[in-house]
Amino acid sequence: MASEQNPTTTDAGIPVSSDEHSLTVGPDGPIVLNDHYLIEQMAAFNRERIPERQPHAKGGGAFGTFEVTDDVSAYTKAAVFQPGTQTDMLARFSTVAGERGSPDTWRDPRGFSLKFYTSEGNFDLVGNNTPVFFLRDPMKFQHFIRSQKRRADTNLRDHDMQWDFWTLSPESAHQVTWLMGDRGIPKTWRHMNGYSSHTYMWVNAQGERFWVKYHFKTDQGIDFLTQDDADHLAGADGDAHQRDLYDAIEQGNHPSWTLYVQVMPYEEAKTYRINPFDLTKVWPHGDYPLIKVGTMTLNRNVTDYHTEMEQAAFQPNNMVPGTGLSPDKMLLARGFSYADAHRARLGVNYQQIPVNRPKAPVHSYSKDGAMRVENVTDPVYAPNSYGGPHADPEHYPETAVWAADGEMVRQAYTLREDDGDFGQAGTLVREVMDDAQRERLVDNVVGHLSDGVSEPILERALEYWRNIDPDIGDRIASGMGR
Ligand code: NDP
Repeated sequence: MASEQNPTTTDAGIPVSSDEHSLTVGPDGPIVLNDHYLIEQMAAFNRERIPERQPHAKGGGAFGTFEVTDDVSAYTKAAVFQPGTQTDMLARFSTVAGERGSPDTWRDPRGFSLKFYTSEGNFDLVGNNTPVFFLRDPMKFQHFIRSQKRRADTNLRDHDMQWDFWTLSPESAHQVTWLMGDRGIPKTWRHMNGYSSHTYMWVNAQGERFWVKYHFKTDQGIDFLTQDDADHLAGADGDAHQRDLYDAIEQGNHPSWTLYVQVMPYEEAKTYRINPFDLTKVWPHGDYPLIKVGTMTLNRNVTDYHTEMEQAAFQPNNMVPGTGLSPDKMLLARGFSYADAHRARLGVNYQQIPVNRPKAPVHSYSKDGAMRVENVTDPVYAPNSYGGPHADPEHYPETAVWAADGEMVRQAYTLREDDGDFGQAGTLVREVMDDAQRERLVDNVVGHLSDGVSEPILERALEYWRNIDPDIGDRIASGMGR
């Protein structure tokens, strides 16, 4: 007679007779090899962890809805951005350098990754809480991340190597200024903005192309932690940001962000005074004002962190019709490397994991591979005479493209009038921050530099700050006893 309870079973669904006792020869004798249930428990436990993300390992997020409140159909035909459209979505926030168990409150940019389950397939935006980045060429990315993680010998993070890399890479100045300012440690994930940082393409129904930057502005208001508060929380509650988001959503206090875009007509990119594809630069709002699009609201917590968050896979190459990439070299590299990281970490069929599976129908010709769980049907090749899917260029032409020409070279972007490394960092210090923010910026930098930065890197760091702003540089130098 079947039990009316909820009996424990093996992974094969076979009811087991004990949750507590191994199978032994008599109560005091040895464990027998045919205790297959014990063996399954031990073997599964040994395999519970999967490789953590490299970087952005520590993070959390929630499900939600994105609703288009305004009309941007003049700029994009993407279904997800048409007036009134509501789309289910997933968000994940993270630190960059820390491992999975590291504190949420380390000074670091925060990842701001979004997946929209649109009617035309998954649309992903893999952004940060800052509008710029440390680098503009992907050749340096791997080196940069290594400089932020741990040394080979001590296995410790090391400010000396961080400032060594930054000061030898002056294009980092804008992002480092951001990082050392108040926004370098958000109070919670709810109290920060999200930016695409990269420039992307939009294409409207007439085939006209535009360059866009996405800005998700927090409706909770910007708030931050001082270095002292963050240091305290790192010990007292290393998961403070995870806890805050989870609790807020459980209490029905659903955080939201308003999406705005900056739009640049396709041709203007050729002559704009700043290279609009340089990831270390913003487009000043005075030149390209924010245009409202809609609201993203997070309203549902994950119920299984592993399957819905640890296995969530965001990739900036997931661009639906009406959206696309741009000549930003960092973005083009990320278009490859994110999907590649997922294949390495989760396996080639990671898009069949429920959290990653599109809600739009999938008719791809991908076949087999480790952990494939969805049935493949014939024909398994194209073109074919047996009614298999076929591409539809009439309805889905390749429109998110741009012209390129030239010899193959390994060179920096061609410099434009306002492409200096220090200009926008200086503007941030002088024109955006107030006196109190500048004071905290100086304190934060002095504290950071005082923690193990040696010569000649220290002298270079002071020069770096004087290049950003002479006054701030002098104040930092004086804080360092120079
Ligand atoms: P604006 O005055 O139009 O915009 C300034 C921006 O700075 C606002 O978006 C504001 O965000 C943000 N901000 C305010 N305080 C801080 C802070 N302590 N750290 C970082 N950002 C802050 O100026 P511009 O567009 O001409 O840009 C001037 C400078 O502002 C840039 O060099 C850049 O460093 C910074 N910035 C520019 C952004 C852009 O996309 N143009 C975006 C973010 C920063 P909020 O509205 O949320 O207060």
